[in-house]
Amino acid sequence: MIQPINKDTLILSKKSTTATPNDAQVGQDLVETLQANKEVCVGMAANMIGVNKQIIVVQIGMISLLMYNPTIISKSQPYSTEEGCLSLSGERKTTRFEKIEVSYLDSNFQPQKQSFQGFVAQIIQHEIDHCNGIII
Ligand SMILES: [Zn+2]
Repeated sequence: MIQPINKDTLILSKKSTTATPNDAQVGQDLVETLQANKEVCVGMAANMIGVNKQIIVVQIGMISLLMYNPTIISKSQPYSTEEGCLSLSGERKTTRFEKIEVSYLDSNFQPQKQSFQGFVAQIIQHEIDHCNGIII
């Protein structure tokens, strides 16, 4: 189900808790909500729809990649950039890493380890920050 976008910074600034297979519906809602906002948004974290769980979705071309409990296990090549966020207005400066390696549970709750770079890596870092209660 498409959910409304949460812009309450009090909720957004709380660290999210570990997701379990009981949260599969939240993951599905997150994918549908991202797809409904794809003109303006390339990634989303569960607290953006008001659920305080470590779940993110990232749009990679036609694919909405759902990740439960994502963790960055290595990162390299830092750079400065500016980002916007559907839950905030305007853009803000931040430091990101060109290359990251992420461990996560996929949509079937199977453990995965994957490397990302460039724009996709940037989106993932932004959404993992959301899971940690960090808003850009
Ligand atoms: Zn955001």
